[in-house]
Amino acid sequence: MSFVAVMLYQWGQLDGREGKVSGLIGESIAAESSPKISPVKARAREFYAPNSEDLAPDEMRLIACGTGMPTLRPKQAASCWLLELGNGDKFIFDVGTGSGERIAAMQIPYNYLDKVFLSHLHTDHFGDLDALFVGGALAGRQKPLRVWGPSGETPERGTKYALDHLRKALTWDLDGRQGLTDPRGYHLEVHEFDYMGMNEIIYQENGVTIRSFPAIHSLDGPVSFGVEWNGFKFVFGGDTYPNKWYDEYAKDADLAIHECFIAVPDMITKFQFTPQSALLVGTQIHTAPEAFGKIMSRIKPRMAVAYHFFKDFDTTAAIYKGIRTTYDGPLSLAEDYMVWNITKDDIRVRLAIIDEDVWPPPATEKPQLPDTSTRIPYSDAILGGKLDVKDVLQPTYDAINKEYGINEKQD
Ligand SMILES: [Zn+2]
Ligand SMILES: [Zn+2]
Repeated sequence: MSFVAVMLYQWGQLDGREGKVSGLIGESIAAESSPKISPVKARAREFYAPNSEDLAPDEMRLIACGTGMPTLRPKQAASCWLLELGNGDKFIFDVGTGSGERIAAMQIPYNYLDKVFLSHLHTDHFGDLDALFVGGALAGRQKPLRVWGPSGETPERGTKYALDHLRKALTWDLDGRQGLTDPRGYHLEVHEFDYMGMNEIIYQENGVTIRSFPAIHSLDGPVSFGVEWNGFKFVFGGDTYPNKWYDEYAKDADLAIHECFIAVPDMITKFQFTPQSALLVGTQIHTAPEAFGKIMSRIKPRMAVAYHFFKDFDTTAAIYKGIRTTYDGPLSLAEDYMVWNITKDDIRVRLAIIDEDVWPPPATEKPQLPDTSTRIPYSDAILGGKLDVKDVLQPTYDAINKEYGINEKQD
C-alpha cells in the first residue's frame, strides 16, 4: 500500500471511522516483529479493490463516488453514492458532476447501473447524468436509464421538465449514434414524484422500499431518501438546512448521510466568499458542522456520514471540531472512494484503491445488432469530402470478417 493510503487511514482515525481499519498501523508494526507472518505471504487487504470481493446476501456496501462541491476539482467529484445490496440490487443516489468516472471505477456491468435517484436539480447533484446515460448505453446498459426525482413548485422546476430538456439537448448526440450500436440503452425512463411526500413510498421492488421526504434548500423541490431492505435503514440526505423531516424519518438509521458544509471562516479565506455570503450559504442554505452534529445526536445512527465539503489537511479539522461540539457518536467525514460495508454486527470503513485504466465490464446480455438502415446519412456536400483510404482499411475488414465469419463491407 502506498504512503498516501497510509496517510489517509491516519485521517480515518481522526475522523472517528469505526471498523477494522483503525488497527492497520499497529498491525503493520506487529507484522515486522511477528515470526508467524511469512515474508512471502500476503496479509489481508485493508483497502477495497473493486470487483474483488463478494457481497454477502445480508450485507450492504456503500461507495462514495462524489463528496465535493459544484466547483470542480480532481480530488473530489460532486455528490454521488452507490449503494449495493446483498440481493444484487444497486442504486445510485445523485450523480453529480465528475462522478461518472468514479462509478466506472467500480467495474460494475452497466445493466446493473440503471436506477438513479436525484435529491434535487443542482448540477453538483445531477451534472453527470448525461455521461451515465450515454456512456452507460455505449458500454453495456441494454435497457433505459431509470431516474427518480422530485417535482417542483411549477412544472418547469421539476425533474421531468429537466430531463425532457436534457434529452432535447442531446438530440445531435443521440441522432448521430442511431444505427451504430445496440440501441436499447438510449432511453430515459423518468419517474417524477411529489416533493412534498412525507416519507411516501416512491419505489418498491425486490424487497427494497425507497421513500422520500422534503428538504429545505434554495427553492422548494429538494428531497432526501430513506431505503429499507433486510431490516436495514439507509438514509441519504440531499442538500438542506436542518429540517424536522430528516430528524423524524432518519431516526435510528444504520447509516445516515447528511450534508455538512465548509466552516464559515474557510469559506471566506479559501473559497473567496464575502463574509455576508459565507454566513448565508454556509449556515442558511446548507448545514453547518455544529448543526450537522446536533441532527446526528438526535437521530443516533449506527454511522453518521458528513459530505459536501472540500476535505483538505487545512479544512477538515474545523469541520470535525464543529461537529464534535454537538455529537460524539460514530462518524465518517466522507471523501471520494470511501467504502462502508454494513452488516448487522459491524460497519467496516475503508478506502477503495482503483484502477485508472478501467475498461467497460462485460455486458450481461448479448448485444443486439442495430438496424443500420436507421443511420442518418451525411449530406452530399460532407460525403464528397471523404479521402479515399479504402485500400488501407480493407485488410482490417478482411481480417475481422474472416475471424468472426461475417461479411461486412465499407460504406
Ligand atoms: Zn444544492
Ligand atoms: Zn450540493
